[in-house]
Amino acid sequence: MSLMPVEEAQKRLLASIPTPGTQDVVLAEAHGRILAEDLAAHRDQPPFAASAMDGYAVRSANIKDLPTKLQVVGEVPAGTLFPDSLHNWEAVRIFTGAPVPEGANAILIQENAERDGAFVMALEAVTEGQYIRPAGMDFKRGDVLIRAGTRLTAGNLALAAAMNRPSVKVRMRPKVAILATGDELILPGENPRPEQIVASNTFGVAALASEAGADILDLGLVGDDKTAIAAKVEQARAAGADILVTSGGASVGDHDLVQDALTEAGMTLDFWRIAMRPGKPLMAGKLDAMQVIGLPGNPVSAMVCALLFLCPLIRAIQGDTDPLLVETAALGGPVAANDKRQSYLRASLSRNAQGGLIATQFTGQDSAMLAGFARADCLLIRPPHAAAVDAGMPCQIIRL
Ligand code: AMP
Ligand code: MG
Repeated sequence: MSLMPVEEAQKRLLASIPTPGTQDVVLAEAHGRILAEDLAAHRDQPPFAASAMDGYAVRSANIKDLPTKLQVVGEVPAGTLFPDSLHNWEAVRIFTGAPVPEGANAILIQENAERDGAFVMALEAVTEGQYIRPAGMDFKRGDVLIRAGTRLTAGNLALAAAMNRPSVKVRMRPKVAILATGDELILPGENPRPEQIVASNTFGVAALASEAGADILDLGLVGDDKTAIAAKVEQARAAGADILVTSGGASVGDHDLVQDALTEAGMTLDFWRIAMRPGKPLMAGKLDAMQVIGLPGNPVSAMVCALLFLCPLIRAIQGDTDPLLVETAALGGPVAANDKRQSYLRASLSRNAQGGLIATQFTGQDSAMLAGFARADCLLIRPPHAAAVDAGMPCQIIRL
């Protein structure tokens, strides 16, 4: 059976994305969510001509000969309104953020003024509009400032609040059910027999998936047992999972029953076995509306496959149009020629003197070595049949 190229597998997986639902969330819960509506401002910002400094609101035409004496007729701190108009030879004490009174057209900053009881002496001339932020300078009511599809950043949230939008419509987080399979597995903290293995995949995969924007349903561990696997598949379906992720049991051994169990439960296989290292036994299919991803059991393979397939799928479901997150760097050391499988080498990232990214592969690359994976900053991508390359040459990476 020939192996499917990574790009083709990714393309197939991302080709049939279900339309995601939407929900309203308050701003405090919207960080990192993907906006599902164009967001228009509900007011002008600033809503009035505002003073940018502490000082005096004045008429610029009054201050030509220096010094000029003006009568102080009132005071406007931020959050108050001066009830009258300003007339010639008058000044109003004003503070940053306060509305500029009618009739005033400039702010004389307090550093250039000398207060004398009911009067103030202008020591410097002012120009029209000086230190006044015009109404709507930042944005105007009705301006669409954040577009549907944006992943909401800290800046977006501050902006939405200033736009007087207390809640926003965002894409639902896909629900990802995760099942670990293997007779040898126990949970961390249990007392393992010497022949048992502590299950680690669910913890890493769940963290990657929730970082990509998913809600996690942990289905726990089952042995290599079709009936037990089928029961968990039903649980995932009943819970309305968008994606079911399994780990382990994905190869061709006598105890690799996941694909059979899924097929018997009604899954249509989309693809299986990818031309990649690590991660060859990756499987994908569909069980009604639920996408199924079968990760290999090997801890590093499971993480790499989750990064390459599960995370982009989660991002794409939320409307992300560029979900693969591949970047360019330069090689920190020589890399050997590659065979027919695309390789994902665990590597460190640093910067050269110009600030460019440098990716340097680790020496041990066994797909069972989690310590090396946890230490890595990125995966260095080596295409099939790539020739040997020297340090300094460009390469593609995926950050961890
Ligand atoms: P399998 O895909 O079931 O053949 O598993 C391949 C290797 O990964 C075996 O050494 C398993 O013990 C190991 N493995 C499978 N599932 C997990 C898991 N959830 N956590 C850690 N190791 C696992
Ligand atoms: Mg197994």
